[in-house]
Order: sequence, then C-alpha cells, then structure tokens
Amino acid sequence: MLSDDQMKKNDLFKPRRSDLILIAILAAAAALLAVLFAFGKGHEQGTYAEVVLNGQSYGIYDLKEDQTIRIETDLGYNLIEIQNGSVSMKEADCPDQYCVSKGAVSSSADPIVCLPHRLVIQILPDKTEPVSFDAVSE
Ligand SMILES: [Zn+2]
Repeated sequence: MLSDDQMKKNDLFKPRRSDLILIAILAAAAALLAVLFAFGKGHEQGTYAEVVLNGQSYGIYDLKEDQTIRIETDLGYNLIEIQNGSVSMKEADCPDQYCVSKGAVSSSADPIVCLPHRLVIQILPDKTEPVSFDAVSE
C-alpha cells in the first residue's frame, strides 16, 4: 500500500502541464545558448587590447571604454585611441607613419605594429583571460 505522501509524490511526475513547461524552459535555454554561441563565433572581436612595448606587456585596455593612451619612450610617442570597440593609432611621430595609416582595428587577427617604436597593439581574443589586467588596474 502506498501512503498518501507517496501518492502525491508520484502525481508530481504525472501531469503533462509541468512536463511541457520544463520542456519549454529547456528549449528556451538551448535556443539562448545557440544564439550566444553563434554570436560569439561570428564576431572574432576581442574585449581587450594589449599594448606591447619592446616585447613586454605595457598594459591591457578595455575596448568597451573609449579612451586615449599616450605612450612616450626615448624613440618617440604614440597616441592610441580606443573608440566604439576598436583601437587605432591616432598619432605617432614615427618616420613611416605605417601604424597611423592602418586605421581602426577590432580583430585579434589584425594587430597594429609600429616598428620604429617597437610597439604592438594586439586585440586579445574573447577566450583569453587578461592575466595581468587586475594588476594593471589596481
Ligand atoms: Zn608608427
């Protein structure tokens, strides 16, 4: 003999209405994940830009925050601009002006290089954890 309590527990698994709700929730979650996955895959856009100076990491900057970064070394200066999720070399006093003419980039596959100043701006891919970001922002 089943007790009343056990009967009620069994009933919980029976109604079709709750099954449908569960299926609907799972379907919605799966659809959301699919959308997020497709969006993340379609956009090779990074969230952070890393400035590498003379082979060493100078700083990591959030592309969501519009800002300008001025870097001065013995070799000259570079004015980096972050705007609308992309980064560009706004000004530099390097002889070739190659970095300035490159324009805005937002892809990790397309770094800005200022060879005369030994400066590289690279977009970090989404999956990359900006290891030194916390230390820089402290
Ligand atoms: Zn340059």
